[in-house]
Amino acid sequence: MRKPFVAGNWKMNGSSASIKTLVGGILDGMGRVKNAEVVVCPSFVYLSEVAQLLAGSAVEFGSQDVAKEESGAYTGEVAVSMLKDMACKYAIIGHSERRAYYGDTDEIVAEKFIAAQKGGLTPILCVGELLEEREAGQTEAVVERQLQAVVGRAGIRALESAVIAYEPVWAIGTGKTASPEQAQAVHAFIRQWMSKEDSAVAEKVQILYGGSVKAANANELFSQTDIDGGLIGGASLSAEEFISICEAAG
Ligand code: PEP
Repeated sequence: MRKPFVAGNWKMNGSSASIKTLVGGILDGMGRVKNAEVVVCPSFVYLSEVAQLLAGSAVEFGSQDVAKEESGAYTGEVAVSMLKDMACKYAIIGHSERRAYYGDTDEIVAEKFIAAQKGGLTPILCVGELLEEREAGQTEAVVERQLQAVVGRAGIRALESAVIAYEPVWAIGTGKTASPEQAQAVHAFIRQWMSKEDSAVAEKVQILYGGSVKAANANELFSQTDIDGGLIGGASLSAEEFISICEAAG
């Protein structure tokens, strides 16, 4: 059985004060979450603050990106070793906003994935199609290309110590959620695709859905066979909403 998993991607939001309140609310609500692994991903600058606030709790934290280089003259970048130093456990890799606005190509995403794993972080690898790609019937081809870029370099077994997030770009921050059937179909495709190479890996990997998940639609999405939890953007900024989503995951 795969453990349910919910990660909150706070993106470029928050302040020292608001993060304190948000983490406090999440910790207060954790009693309602039975089994799900709960992770929050703040901005880099708040990682050490969040680490302190979460110390001794069941909630883990991650970064929203990593540098593909180990160290050196890369102004503005954050190394995997620095994140490990902060006791960070996860790293979101290949989020569609990084792909769209910051030039993260499939190749760069693969390099970041490999760097994260090499340094001891668990990647949360994001894949997903644009609206025009879905409308052109290319959803599976796009997701396959994005996965293959990583698997071709890192090998299928690398996915065993990673989490995959299927995030249709047209559903991120738009309020348009993929229907549970649409999401399940792509999740099943991803699992089948992995099982062609290694069925044990396919069975083991948690595949999250991301794209306008809220407390009101989480139950239906998470009850699908191949949906193991969610990557949550906007709704993760409210402790009550986020905990309700985690509760729905299990
Ligand atoms: C995300 O950014 O990963 C995301 C899923 O955002 P939202 O939940 O706001 O659609």
